Amino acid sequence: MRVLLQNLTKKFPNRNKKEKEDVIAVNDFTFEIPDGKLVGLLGPSGCGKSTTLNLISGLLKPTSGKIFFGDDDVTNLPPENRGIGLVFQNYALYPHLTVRQNIIFPLQNLKGKNKLSKDQMNQKALEIAKLVQLDGLMDRKPNELSGGQQQRVAIARALVKIPRVLLLDEPLSNLDARLRLQTREEIRRIQRETGITTVFVTHDQDEAMSISDIIVVMKDGVVQQIGAPQEVYDNPSNLFVAKFLGTPPISIFTGSIKAGRLYIGNDNVCSVDIPDTAKVDVGIRPEGFILKEDGPLACKLDRVEVMGRDISVVSQHEAAQTTHIRSIISSDNKVDFGASQVRFSIKPNKLLIFDADTGNRITCNLQ
Ligand code: ADP
Ligand code: MG
Repeated sequence: MRVLLQNLTKKFPNRNKKEKEDVIAVNDFTFEIPDGKLVGLLGPSGCGKSTTLNLISGLLKPTSGKIFFGDDDVTNLPPENRGIGLVFQNYALYPHLTVRQNIIFPLQNLKGKNKLSKDQMNQKALEIAKLVQLDGLMDRKPNELSGGQQQRVAIARALVKIPRVLLLDEPLSNLDARLRLQTREEIRRIQRETGITTVFVTHDQDEAMSISDIIVVMKDGVVQQIGAPQEVYDNPSNLFVAKFLGTPPISIFTGSIKAGRLYIGNDNVCSVDIPDTAKVDVGIRPEGFILKEDGPLACKLDRVEVMGRDISVVSQHEAAQTTHIRSIISSDNKVDFGASQVRFSIKPNKLLIFDADTGNRITCNLQ
């Protein structure tokens, strides 16, 4: 099911009574979610992710704008008539019901021609339980399940009516690290197998990048960028997006352009086709640093952390905007742990230049 969000805006009265201005939780959001894709809605806490999801679900009404599922205008439909499956951070299972009963629950209030017999309901519950690999646990109560299993029951319950759109709001936040990884792979597999158009809300960039076909990065209610995860990582449209994606994070420096050369502090780093500019922000991804004895970027070596496959070199530079610069290099490199200085050359496709005032990316050729 294709989902179209058209100029979607949601304003709330300010919670702080002294401030008269409304909070614009979602600001003019337009996007067409292609049929069968998994879209990751990503951004820091308070940026409007849940509000967007609740607008799609119908739990909230937009202040302006429209929502279409396929050709149906669902803007004024209540949630129960939209054909959605919802999963939240807290699994919200019925504690006194078994796994089977929890999964069957949404089927029990089907009416008219959709009404199912008990056998049909049990059959459907079993099919979905198999999909989420819970079929051996049908008679347990929620308190006899791990967090990951409970969340799978919640997912099964959201899927049992075969929704047109599946909506997940931070579904992995209550799970420990290992379960989080496992469950996100599970969600990805279930989504692929069912082909249900899915919106997955998270503040965790790693999660969004690994699970999504398309990510939407939001800040203060405004969409910053939409694209395939790799495309957004490689070509962030602004400094906010560049900083939000990637672990370890991108290192930011204050630079300048003089006579076709990019300077970071006093270091003459590379040639660039941008007119002279007194101040730019320069971002370098951790994998963009190449250890080189006569490399142009001279940094003060802080420490070297061995991580097995890779080495993380932590250093400092007077033009860096953060106290530490993190570079990831292959452990095949020999690093002199005792040296006070370390020099790098930079991979041109890992170096990004931003307007120092607006934060917008300046696209250019680097050499
Ligand atoms: P996120 O899910 O990205 O953390 P939300 O969508 O929950 O963000 O919230 C976006 C903004 O809208 C925040 O500033 C939040 O305080 C505000 N907000 C959300 N719900 C309400 C509400 N019911 N009343 C007033 N403000 C709200
Ligand atoms: Mg939220």
